[in-house]
Amino acid sequence: FSLIQRETGFISGLVAVLHDVTEQQKNERERREFVSNVSHELRTPLTSMRSYIEALSDGAWQDPEIAPQFLKVTQEETDRMIRMINDLLSLSRMDSGTSKIELETINLNEFFNYILDRFDMMLKTDNESAGNDNNRVQPLPSSRKKRYTIRREITKRDLWVEVDQDKFMQVIDNIMNNAIKYSPEGGVITARLVETHNHVILSITDQGLGIPRKDINKVFDRFYRVDKARSRQQGGTGLGLAISKEVVEALGGRIWVDSQEGKGSTFYISLPYEPLEEGDDWDEA
Ligand code: ADP
Repeated sequence: FSLIQRETGFISGLVAVLHDVTEQQKNERERREFVSNVSHELRTPLTSMRSYIEALSDGAWQDPEIAPQFLKVTQEETDRMIRMINDLLSLSRMDSGTSKIELETINLNEFFNYILDRFDMMLKTDNESAGNDNNRVQPLPSSRKKRYTIRREITKRDLWVEVDQDKFMQVIDNIMNNAIKYSPEGGVITARLVETHNHVILSITDQGLGIPRKDINKVFDRFYRVDKARSRQQGGTGLGLAISKEVVEALGGRIWVDSQEGKGSTFYISLPYEPLEEGDDWDEA
């Protein structure tokens, strides 16, 4: 506030300047929380690696049973930290607007089937190599390959939409990988693609552990995980869904989840879509 005071001492006016700082304070608070989260997230794997390395150098390296296991843990933690840094870099590029969205018109139907074929193929090659595993060291539960079945309920129609292929593929990969990660052995994953009059809706349903009601709105937040230990053990970074949300929103779409604890989850992505009118033809123009 400032008072407008005449030389005579009379107050002839009052000027009030109000700044809305709530938004600014919120951003500042979020930024600080983010930095603190990043530090914690990196400190945990680093401290655990330090203890493994200490144990190795204190003599465990001579133990043919223990040494390979300890090395494997440090390797997995290093890989996870690299994944986390890469995820952080993509988020930061999206935040600063330096990562450009490269739109292309693609047939989502074909694109989705192509991605699912890749998952089917991975499953096949994993199963074939499972029999001749000469590795003496038992893999960690997280790296043991899981069996699953993908069921497709996909429209036969061509659905032309505008997406950034690389980024959108990352989104679907991430949701598929989560569906596998948080599913029981042998679970069924259902992939659906439907159209409404101005949207296409893609969904992925699993029969996994589901998400408690209180956490459902938070899973798209950076670093939010329902069960930190489980996510970490599965090699998770807690950033996949946050990145997916940024990408989908940059494409003008929406991402959400429906889940029942203990029964499974469905992740949905909707994208704007303009159906081609009957008679719309490429060479007409
Ligand atoms: P993470 O690397 O931990 O998987 P995400 O950002 O991909 O990170 O997911 C955030 C959290 O949301 C996960 O830690 C998990 O708790 C929950 N989540 C994601 N997908 C599923 C799913 N299909 N079933 C159950 N929980 C899930």
